[in-house]
Amino acid sequence: MLEDKDRIFTNLYGYHPWNLEAAKKRGDWDNTKALIELGRDKIIEEMKASGLRGRGGAGFPTGMKWSFMPKESDGRPAYLVVNADESEPGTCKDREIMRNDPHKLIEGCLVASFAMNANAAYIYIRGEYRHEYKVLEAAVAEAYEAGMIGKNACGSGFDFDLYIHHGAGAYICGEETALLESLEGKKGQPRLKPPFPAMSGLWGCPTTVNNVESIAVAPTILRRGAAWFSSFGRENNAGTKLFCVSGHVNKPCNVEEALSIPMKELLEKHCGGVRGGWDNLLAVIPGGSSVPCLPKDICDDVLMDFDALKEQKSGLGTAAVIVMDKSTDIIKAIARLSYFYKHESCGQCTPCREGTGWMWRVMERLVKGEAEIEEIDMLFDVSKQIEGHTICALGDAAAWPVQGLIRHFRDEIEDRIKNRTRVAMPAAAAE
Ligand code: SF4
Repeated sequence: MLEDKDRIFTNLYGYHPWNLEAAKKRGDWDNTKALIELGRDKIIEEMKASGLRGRGGAGFPTGMKWSFMPKESDGRPAYLVVNADESEPGTCKDREIMRNDPHKLIEGCLVASFAMNANAAYIYIRGEYRHEYKVLEAAVAEAYEAGMIGKNACGSGFDFDLYIHHGAGAYICGEETALLESLEGKKGQPRLKPPFPAMSGLWGCPTTVNNVESIAVAPTILRRGAAWFSSFGRENNAGTKLFCVSGHVNKPCNVEEALSIPMKELLEKHCGGVRGGWDNLLAVIPGGSSVPCLPKDICDDVLMDFDALKEQKSGLGTAAVIVMDKSTDIIKAIARLSYFYKHESCGQCTPCREGTGWMWRVMERLVKGEAEIEEIDMLFDVSKQIEGHTICALGDAAAWPVQGLIRHFRDEIEDRIKNRTRVAMPAAAAE
């Protein structure tokens, strides 16, 4: 178990004030000028050596992402954009950072922007996060007031401005290029890549889009060193990570732990275990609603990291762990997710626009026991036609939970069809 002294987020539960004075007492803004004086190359080198992989879901190495930004300006400004549009069902870790530890994020924005030659950064915050928006705005104001950001930030000679942009509640705006479109004042629809944002992002300028947690951990990594951070977890899965655990555990929580912690240990040590005991576990969605669920026999031994979960044909995603005990109607639960993705599809490309609606309608028939056995394979085939054939990852995100259900719970689906068991759909999804 991670010791308190190794936790980066020391105010995750808001036991202390979030303000600048209190943040400084917890070690934030401690000689930030010295971090900037490390220089751009050294900062990126350290971030690469730390092994930090993006904490927003895709797991791309953060230092490498930063290194894609042009070293020399071609006359265009460069930007850092922080993706705070946290909308993945089950995920609520960035919310706690912004609510209780906003100065970690602001300091991270300064250091990361400096490393990428960006004199301005934008934090795009989820529309529903009204309280967090207010806290962040107040924290940014006091950082300006104290000279931590703005002209000659922290006395470093580097000028840096930070803006907060409030989203309007569309899940798709959490996709990085849809987010950029929205930030530019357009309809939030994903762009085709290439060009990638590092070449042509916000207003056609070099841009890096990073998750809140990825940016907020950067100052601590630079202060304590890449070797310290990479000493947690295992190769290719380094560092500490915020896990948000919800569902059928005795104490749902957000907790920072070392990557690669066994799932069972995570749930038993921090969440009071599964409701009714471990043997009452049915399945877990280990990384937010976009990844396939895993049945109990896999959960018994699986490690919570990128590679271990990928080996099981699932993923770490946002590390939002959704626990379902044996009282769960797993078909209905996954059908509810199908409805979510159908609802949130931006409709721009055919496999996603038509496919998510098609999958939802079949899932609805499965829940109600009205489908035929042959439709199970057909549903799997259609999900494969969506996966990898769309402009953005929402198509994959819609396909994977359905695939996980069929892979691990085929018997339950067949039983329901054979017995013609009628189950009502949840009200929100029963159109
Ligand atoms: Fe829009 Fe879906 Fe295509 Fe993404 S995959 S661009 S959400 S239609």
